[in-house]
Amino acid sequence: MLSVRDLVVAYGHVQAVRSVSFDVPRGSLVTLVGANGAGKTSVLNAVAGLVRPRAGRVLFDGNDITGTPAHRLVAAGLVQVPEGREILATLTVEENLQLGTWHRRGRPERIPQMYHRFPVLGDRRHLQAGSLSGGEQQMLAIARALVADPVVLLLDEPSMGLAPKVVDEVFRVIEEIRADGTTVLLVEQNARRALRAADYGYVLETGEVAHHGVAADLLRDERVIEAYLGLE
Ligand code: ATP
Repeated sequence: MLSVRDLVVAYGHVQAVRSVSFDVPRGSLVTLVGANGAGKTSVLNAVAGLVRPRAGRVLFDGNDITGTPAHRLVAAGLVQVPEGREILATLTVEENLQLGTWHRRGRPERIPQMYHRFPVLGDRRHLQAGSLSGGEQQMLAIARALVADPVVLLLDEPSMGLAPKVVDEVFRVIEEIRADGTTVLLVEQNARRALRAADYGYVLETGEVAHHGVAADLLRDERVIEAYLGLE
């Protein structure tokens, strides 16, 4: 579904991503994990068309989409939930969801479905989004992406800054989205949690893939445990 080949992302002289390759098969949940600054967001932004890669290719459903601008990729079904959620605080919950419908893929009729799926958003639909808790704002950011009817959902650090119970809820939603047939590429610092949810994982270290494999195997890999997972 999504294939990234020899991706290089640089900001001036800083090489954030050096020759990263990975695959996201249709219907799977693949995660990129790694420490702060490992290059995860840069990879995701290059895939989503927000950053132009210095080199390498991104293939989506067999088409070369390298360097295609984000708005065209959203229209094709590649939809990102950005790091830090980026909801519009002074707009209402409903207005934020309407923003997910601006392009031809957008489905206004999915907004009521989102209230069904996330009742807390339905209850607060007329409130300013900025008044929601961090977890509710994350749900809103995910719901706004789902309104755009994604083929592939790109999630950047959805558990960032959330309490453990709320993190559980966010991961339950991610697993449901995947169970509904949406392909998911998940970037996370919470490696253990992400690998538990994923089929396949890639561990990034200073802009390169240090380990990759079936997620369950990575969770048992001594090198990965020592460097990224630690004791529970
Ligand atoms: P985080 O979890 O903190 O977002 P990350 O693994 O997603 O980390 P990136 O955000 O991709 O990593 O950053 C990788 C490297 O690129 C870091 O050294 C970072 O400082 C640098 N970097 C990221 N964005 C820019 C930018 N716009 N300009 C210059 N350097 C950047």
